[in-house]
Amino acid sequence: MSEDIAERIAQVRERMRRAAERAGRSPEEITLVAVTKGVEVARIRAAIAAGLAHFGENRVQEAESKIAEIAEPVTWHLVGHLQSNKARKAVGLFQMIHSVDSVRLAERLDRLAGERGRPIPVLLQVDLAGEPTKFGIPVEHLIEVAQACRSLRHLQVRGLMAIPPYFEDPERVRPYFRRLAECLRELNARELFEPPLGELSMGMSHDFEVAIEEGATLVRIGRAIFGERQP
Ligand SMILES: *Cc1c(COP(=O)(O)O)cnc(C)c1O
Repeated sequence: MSEDIAERIAQVRERMRRAAERAGRSPEEITLVAVTKGVEVARIRAAIAAGLAHFGENRVQEAESKIAEIAEPVTWHLVGHLQSNKARKAVGLFQMIHSVDSVRLAERLDRLAGERGRPIPVLLQVDLAGEPTKFGIPVEHLIEVAQACRSLRHLQVRGLMAIPPYFEDPERVRPYFRRLAECLRELNARELFEPPLGELSMGMSHDFEVAIEEGATLVRIGRAIFGERQP
């Protein structure tokens, strides 16, 4: 089992390297975040043994017990929607939150991080497709939300995240990735944040190579490492 995971990680890393090369980027600019929802602790340990240091969970509840069991000093990312009433727990468990999608949540995280005396790095989640079932800040409100986040001293906005619609053909996702990269440039052109925003969290198992070609700095990969999830 652990060899299986190590082998899959090596394959993913190789595909990441080739995608970066095609785009004239350095593979070191891109962090592989292994998404471990539905994955048991023994398999997460195997991924750590194979050299992974960044892990992503999409639910606070599920993450809580797993993170408690894993003693290794890895970095935990919250990649799924965060309800306000779980914000306190989230700030205690995760080193980066990818899913800030409202001023209200941003303010709450800022306050909680202030109480802990430790700033919390976050990404603003953008809803690129305007799908009613998806979370995220509509593109037309992004600047306004970013402006509101500027004054929050314990919130470190690092960049943007998106979950584009699923298409069998990853080429069809490319315009969404390109749009997110544009949003980042637009925010930076307004000099809202110092240092400027550098992170783009985009790309999953079926489309991470296209995401890297379009500028991803964090790819969130589950199935390509751990296999299909149980329904
Ligand atoms: C599950 C999940 C992923 C990983 O998806 P795979 O298709 O397994 O690679 C990435 N991002 C988020 C927000 C997820 O919930």
